[in-house]
Amino acid sequence: MKISKIFLKDFRNFAELDLNLSETINIFLGRNAQGKTNILESINFASLGTARVSKDTELVRWNQDAALLRMNFSKADVSHDLAIEIPADRRRRRILFDGNAVKMRDFIGKLNAVMFSPEDLFMFRNSPITRRKFLNIVISQASPIYFSELTTYNRLLEQRNNLLKKIRENMASPNNLELWNEQLADAAAKILSRRIKAVENLNSLADEMQKEISAQSENLSLEYEIHDLQNVPAPQNFSVEYLQSWYHEIFKSRNFSDVKRGSTSFGVHLDDLNFFINGKELRLYGSQGQLRTTALALKLSEIQMLKNSAGEYPILLLDDVMSELDAERREKLLEFLLSQKIQTLITATEKAYFPEKIFGKIFLVENGAVKLEE
Ligand code: ATP
Ligand code: MG
Repeated sequence: MKISKIFLKDFRNFAELDLNLSETINIFLGRNAQGKTNILESINFASLGTARVSKDTELVRWNQDAALLRMNFSKADVSHDLAIEIPADRRRRRILFDGNAVKMRDFIGKLNAVMFSPEDLFMFRNSPITRRKFLNIVISQASPIYFSELTTYNRLLEQRNNLLKKIRENMASPNNLELWNEQLADAAAKILSRRIKAVENLNSLADEMQKEISAQSENLSLEYEIHDLQNVPAPQNFSVEYLQSWYHEIFKSRNFSDVKRGSTSFGVHLDDLNFFINGKELRLYGSQGQLRTTALALKLSEIQMLKNSAGEYPILLLDDVMSELDAERREKLLEFLLSQKIQTLITATEKAYFPEKIFGKIFLVENGAVKLEE
């Protein structure tokens, strides 16, 4: 997957921007608040259909009616043309794909991009929610059915929780729980089974990447943590069939205490993901550079998984990844991107982060204007 051209009009701080990208590395240099991240955001938006941090309307340049975003890209050697108009008011977006009007949900998945941003680093220290979210996104990208399994689980969970509260207030009979226990167990089993497989897969890929970037000095391992495992019988295997009855038994055994607390005390909605560098837990002992390296290793594993399922790499967007990486790690990263021919857009405030000779293009970003470095 390669993007050849980007055209932006009234998008964020760009009144108008016309860019011809290199198929390899594209570096965007500039001081703070000049528009570097906004360029990456435009691709991320075209890929996901949502802005990462803001509402759609915030993407439109201040005091303008609409933002326009056009991209020419090739996928499996076929050229495509995408245009998205984002109105500043409540009107709907308009999307043209190869000249035909399409709905966003039909377009999602056509242009594939993966973005690393400094916020990703919080994942390691925040609550388990962000780590589960990471895992959910990675698995959904490779197996879209996982997303609907997750939706089913969350719906059943909410229904069981409502029932628990009603039973607590004597407004429903405990006999009704059985049906939800069974269904929730089915849904949980599918999700856990997929997550265990995905973590296994991620484990080997991410470890390879961590070694690559750290010049073999660090190994990375991921461990899926089943919440409260010390208080239940250990699972004998992770087949869906086995896990269904495993979950079912546990849910049943907790009927009484769950009613008392009014919520479900066991299940995939509470599990976590732990990271270890050379055997030591990252969240407790990791340095800034190690956190960054690991976040990067995970992104590179994510794009590798996408390549394995889709046949080609997505576009890689690296926002502010270079600071806090030492010269050797930066060099290893660029070497890897070049050797794999991954089209990458990378932002930085200093040219000094890059080697003298760089393949690709260097752009200078200043106050919403971009020019190619001479
Ligand atoms: P840094 O190095 O600090 O990360 P950056 O070059 O990545 O800086 P951006 O995040 O791209 O900077 O933002 C550049 C500017 O765009 C910011 O000053 C911001 O105020 C401005 N901006 C954001 N949204 C809009 C908008 N809708 N209209 C106009 N300007 C906007
Ligand atoms: Mg930025």
